[in-house]
Amino acid sequence: MLGQVFNDAVARLKRIGALTQCSNQVISALSHANAMLHVNVEVRMDNGHIHYFPGYRCQHNNVLGPTKGGIRFHPQVNADEVQALALWMTLKCAVVGIPFGGAKGGVCVDPKTLSPFELERLSRSYVRAMADFIGPERDIPAPDVYTNALIMGWMMDEYEKITRVKNPAVITGKPIALGGSLGRDDATGRGAYLCIKELEKRDQLTPQETRVAVQGFGSGGYHVARLLANDGYKVVAVSDSQGAIYRQEGLNIDSVYRQKQQHKELKAVYCEGSVCEALEHQRLSNAELLVSDVDILIPAALDGVITAANAAAIQARYIVEIANGPVTSDADAILKNKGVIVIPDILANAGGVTVSYFEWTQNRCGQRWPREKVSEELSQVMQRAFKRANDLVEKHGMDFRDAVYAVALERLSEGIEAHGTPDYFNGG
Ligand code: NAD
Repeated sequence: MLGQVFNDAVARLKRIGALTQCSNQVISALSHANAMLHVNVEVRMDNGHIHYFPGYRCQHNNVLGPTKGGIRFHPQVNADEVQALALWMTLKCAVVGIPFGGAKGGVCVDPKTLSPFELERLSRSYVRAMADFIGPERDIPAPDVYTNALIMGWMMDEYEKITRVKNPAVITGKPIALGGSLGRDDATGRGAYLCIKELEKRDQLTPQETRVAVQGFGSGGYHVARLLANDGYKVVAVSDSQGAIYRQEGLNIDSVYRQKQQHKELKAVYCEGSVCEALEHQRLSNAELLVSDVDILIPAALDGVITAANAAAIQARYIVEIANGPVTSDADAILKNKGVIVIPDILANAGGVTVSYFEWTQNRCGQRWPREKVSEELSQVMQRAFKRANDLVEKHGMDFRDAVYAVALERLSEGIEAHGTPDYFNGG
């Protein structure tokens, strides 16, 4: 049975499909996932008991290449969300023109309650359950919320033990020593940063006068905050699952990061040592951060945080979606009426999958690219994708979400219709 998140994603797809005169065949193909595997991931806990965690992998559509998408360890993971995330991956790969389809996986678990040994056993057990489903030419996982390079390394190792061949291209986001790519660590944040740099040129933004709030200070959120702060943007608020910190004059992102690494939470971490007493900061809830008085809002945590209930209160002029699906489809219209420019997830966070593609390419060719090459290639991909969408925005007065979806639908239509259209089969 399809759930609310997937239905919402399909409703948006249908609306934009109708707007761009995309064929019913294409919309129908994208409204159905190719395959969904639901397993119970068996883990021997440290206390000797065996626990079963619900685990999922959805391969949404592989018309443009093997499927690709992250694995999430989070207590809210469920089949509905995994399917929606897989659909967005299909669209995202098409937006940036990389030869992958979309997939997603996850385990319903609170990883913060696991010991390091339990976490390793969970990661390996997930791969044992999925080994026949994934593969370097079939479906290639990557990190997502609460999974990281260490976990990807365990997963690759388990897959190689099962298949008895070295196969680093089975998974991306690995540690560099195990075949990971330089530049994968900050790729998602950098991709969003590159979109903001394009907006800066287009709308003549002045970094020093532009205030930014970032919800979620993880792998995506931290790097975009760091890159923007380095360019002079005023990153005034960041948050994690415990809450947000705010400072009108801008936060020192490196300091916040170091403290967060040390204490594992943002609570009262802004100030370091002697600086601490000198610099005031305010505490906000995550809900308050979303409606704070900023110019750019970057949701970089979970989906469904901007809804019809809070969209009218958003003060930001731009929303740059690093999280997947942070704005629900009923909030889209409210934001549009308010004139908020939303750079949608399938463009704004596409830097991650783009550098994952570079990692997969390097693994398959036995190459190691220098960081500068990764960065340069990523810039080109992001700038091209932004420009293609922005051309539609400027020529046809579309909003960014519609324009980015139109780009994805055009590429996917070419692939799907290359197998034949109803007209062709009816002799048209
Ligand atoms: P992460 O685990 O590194 O960080 C997630 C952050 O969100 C953490 O700071 C966590 O404390 C915070 N968080 C968790 N629950 C929260 C809540 N209820 N309210 C506020 N903050 C909360 O994850 P990530 O990889 O940065 O992923 C974040 C988002 O970006 C996800 O939606 C993910 O799908 C998307 N994304 C990530 C990548 C990537 O390469 N990492 C690529 C594309 C999209």
